[in-house]
Amino acid sequence: MSHPPLRTTVIGSYPFPSWLEFASQHLEQFGAADIAELQDDAVIAAIHDQVAAGLDVITDGEQTRFDFNLSFYGFLEGLKLESASPRKWGPPAHDQRGKHEVIGELRAPRGLGAVAEFERLKRLAPPGPALKASLPGPYTLSGRLRPNAQYKDRYALTEALLPIVRAELEALVQAGCAEISVDEPSMSCYAYREDTKRFVDIFNRTVEPVAGKCRLSAHLCFGNYKGRAVGKRRLAPMFPDFLDFKVNELHVEMASREFAEIEMIAEIAKRSDVAVGIIDVKSYYIETIEDVIERIKLCLQYVSPEKLSVAPDCGLSQTARWAARQKLANMVEGVRRARARL
Ligand SMILES: [Zn+2]
Repeated sequence: MSHPPLRTTVIGSYPFPSWLEFASQHLEQFGAADIAELQDDAVIAAIHDQVAAGLDVITDGEQTRFDFNLSFYGFLEGLKLESASPRKWGPPAHDQRGKHEVIGELRAPRGLGAVAEFERLKRLAPPGPALKASLPGPYTLSGRLRPNAQYKDRYALTEALLPIVRAELEALVQAGCAEISVDEPSMSCYAYREDTKRFVDIFNRTVEPVAGKCRLSAHLCFGNYKGRAVGKRRLAPMFPDFLDFKVNELHVEMASREFAEIEMIAEIAKRSDVAVGIIDVKSYYIETIEDVIERIKLCLQYVSPEKLSVAPDCGLSQTARWAARQKLANMVEGVRRARARL
């Protein structure tokens, strides 16, 4: 599957407009038709910003996952909505997110909602940019669930979720989705302490039915909830095992780590394309066009432009929209100028 050199892409999420944040806290005041309108309008806003930036690949910004019932967990049977956050005050961090309780067999008879999201994106997006769907992998998805007697640990929960995610991937391809990102940041975050071969086996079994049937990428970052990392921010523990992921493209977080271990992308490029995070989604320093060109030059020391995609470090949902807009615009303009110099 060929694509333009220095393909510009994004990870799934985009900041919610302020009115969507507000509306999502007051959903009881909206009717079903109002909510459907909200969802379309939010996706139109995310598409607008991405198209204005000039990206080669866009997503729906995950704009419609604004409520528990509309998130993946809301589609799962056998769950009870999370209890209150264990820590309510103090500096923002992962431990402020509650875990959902498992009270029965985990099933998703209606799927996970990603197909409807993709259909909406297809309906609303202008011709031109490639459309990408993003779905968390089963290991990442299991992180918000509390193990119980039936599902004894995180791996047991992962195995229960694996066929559900796999079925969703198949349904996406059947709906005509040609590009899918399977997000497994929990695997990159915990590679330093877990069995990486086990991660690769989980990932490959998840994507097995769609591998080769769409452009498949894996997003590997070190955590971004409230703009905070949670993993040991090193690539070394992930490799070489993660090179065995059955994907067309592997995405790695680089900008926030000042491009540490950049030489690893040469190894990745031997197996697949590599998408490099050259925009720091956690910093309010707006990368200049010159910064972008310089960072691309650095990547091109290790990878040919045909194998290199350029992206932010992670989804932009934790970055204010005004900054996200400027960062994407500079990223695309930097790529445009770098392409002209190729
Ligand atoms: Zn991420």
